[in-house]
Order: sequence, then C-alpha cells, then structure tokens
Amino acid sequence: MLKAVKVRIYPTAEQADWLNRQFGSVRFVYNAGLRIMSHRYKRHGQSLNARHDIKKLLPVAKKSRKYGWLTESDSIALQQACLHLDQAFQRFFDPKQKAGYPRFKSKRGRQSSYHCVGVNSGDNWIRVPKIKAIKARIHRPMDGKLKSITLSRTVTGKHYAALLFETEQAAPAPLKAVDAAGVVGLDMGLSHLAIDSNGHKIANPRFLKQAQRNLKRKQQALSRKQKGSANRAKARLLVARAHERVVNARKDFQHKLSRQIVDDNQAVIVETLKVKNMMKNARLARHIGDASWHALIEKLAYKAEEKGKHLVKLDQWFPGSKTCHVCQHKSDTMLLNIRSWACPACHTRHDRDINAALNIKHQGIVQLKTAGLSVSAH
Ligand SMILES: [Zn+2]
Repeated sequence: MLKAVKVRIYPTAEQADWLNRQFGSVRFVYNAGLRIMSHRYKRHGQSLNARHDIKKLLPVAKKSRKYGWLTESDSIALQQACLHLDQAFQRFFDPKQKAGYPRFKSKRGRQSSYHCVGVNSGDNWIRVPKIKAIKARIHRPMDGKLKSITLSRTVTGKHYAALLFETEQAAPAPLKAVDAAGVVGLDMGLSHLAIDSNGHKIANPRFLKQAQRNLKRKQQALSRKQKGSANRAKARLLVARAHERVVNARKDFQHKLSRQIVDDNQAVIVETLKVKNMMKNARLARHIGDASWHALIEKLAYKAEEKGKHLVKLDQWFPGSKTCHVCQHKSDTMLLNIRSWACPACHTRHDRDINAALNIKHQGIVQLKTAGLSVSAH
C-alpha cells in the first residue's frame, strides 16, 4: 500500500537558493517543451510527444553551452517535467476531461520538483540529490520504503515536501457484507455542503466562510492597485496568503469530515453526475468551487479504500429529488427552490434534500447488491 505524507521543510538561505534554481530548471524544461511542441505543430503540423521527443532533448541541452546550467539540477526532476507536460497534453486531448491547452508555468505560481532516485528521510530531515539534507518537521514516524519526494514552494514562499512511502501492510479486503444502517447517502447541495440520509445537514464551517470573506476583500483591494506598482505586488502577496488560508482551512475540514464519515459507516454513496452537471452551469460553478465536493469525494474514496469500506459513485441520472423515498412515487416537476413537499401518493412530508439523500442511499444499496455484496436490512 502507498502512503503519502506532506511535511513542511525549512531550507537554509543557501538551500532555498538551490531550490529556487531547481524549480526554475523544472519550469524551464516544461515551458521550453511546450514552446517547441506548439511551434512544431503550428509551423509544420507535426505532433511531438513530450514523453519521448522532448525528453530526448535533455541530454543534448545539458551538453550545450547555453543550457549547461541544467546539469546543476536533479535530472530525474527534469525528466519528470516532460512527463507532466505529456500528462497536460493527454488531459487536453481527452474529450472527457475538457481541459484547456497546456499553459506556461509562471515563476509567480506554486513551484514543484519531483525526485525519486537518491531520496531519503529521517526524524527531522529529508534528502534529495545534489544538496545537503534539508530540515523538516515530520510529525509521526513513517514506516515503509520511501519511493519519492515532491518538493514544492507556495506562492507565499513556504516550502513543503510530499513523501510517498510503500508499506508492507496490504490494504484490507473490501467488506463483503454491509448493514443497511451502515450505508449513508450524501446529497451534495448548495444550501449545505452535503446532507446525509440520516438527516444531518453539513454546512461549511464558520472559519472557512470567514477566510473566504477575507480573501474576497483582499482580491478587491488588489484589483484597485495600479499595475506594476510596488503596492500591487504587496497586495498580491496578501491575496496569496489569504488564499492559502482558505485552501488549508478547507483541506483540514474536509479531512476531518471525510474521516468521520468513513469511520461511522461501512459504505458511502455520492452522486457524481449531479456535481458534474452543476459544474456546467457557470453561475452555480462558483458556489460549487467554494463547496469543492470533488475534493471531498476524493478524500472519501481513498479513506474508504484504506479501511476496506465502500464508496459508491452514482454517475447515472435518476430522479433523486423528485422521487418519494417512502412509496417511490415520482413527481413530474420539482422546482429548485422548493425546500419541502408532500408526496401526493402517500402524503409523507419531505425535506427535499434529506429525501434526495435517502434516494441516493437506496440507489447505492442497489449498486452494492449488483456488485455482489450482501446488504442486510435493518
Ligand atoms: Zn410517497
């Protein structure tokens, strides 16, 4: 089983300098590759492959006088930049992903560099080739074999290392039988981050909302500053810091929430098609970006896998919010703004979202059974 852990690292000034050059080289390879590929295509109608054609240019460039400085960097990281570029093109050509054309990496953005040969780590240090050990804050002892280290620097100048370990311990076998009471359906919505089939409404926490308001204020201040001015640079850093706080607060909250949901249940059912459809609606998409269900679903997925539990993603449309979960009666229409309704057939009064979450749960149970699981009724 692979286990990832991200730690803060504290390079000395000299090391930070080296890291800056390392990130610069990685960025250079990525951008130069992108430039060459775009040019070849536009001028000569020729499609190059970053994984092969661009990677082959690395040793040539290193021997040249102009790009000889590339030898100062860990070469694996430079090769990896070619792979990342290749992946960006694959996303662009994949009709399902709807990714835009790859863009140049900016020296102002987040920087990163991947290392997998000659890496090591200890109690409070990490090591990558061509540089002395860097001080790190590692919270818990890691077991297993270190496979790779991805170094990064945030826009605000903090350094991190993401360590990937391979452990002997295998992931537990997925549960073959679950109890219906241990299955939870999550309806991802706009009024709440999610509503579960047990009737719990999960809102984004107050600290996250505050951080978001703060970010918005700082962004407005930035837009008023004159382009190219020192004040604009300062305002940009404030926005980056506020943004970092929002991202960290959200990540932290989602980790705790997903941990709790997976601990409390044997199977979790989510509706991925609905998330995708709402994303298509630009006005809704901004709210969804805030709620970031996608990231929550990813965390649920790997936490469930680690515990041998199930995450079912419903990607087929079904009339979840229009169907009465008690008698399965389908209403013809259901306006988005109706929060509660009474079933015309069995007269049960429904909270729109809880009813939807219950239907998601039932739908998920059907899928679990189709996959060969036994689901005992309560
Ligand atoms: Zn009914």
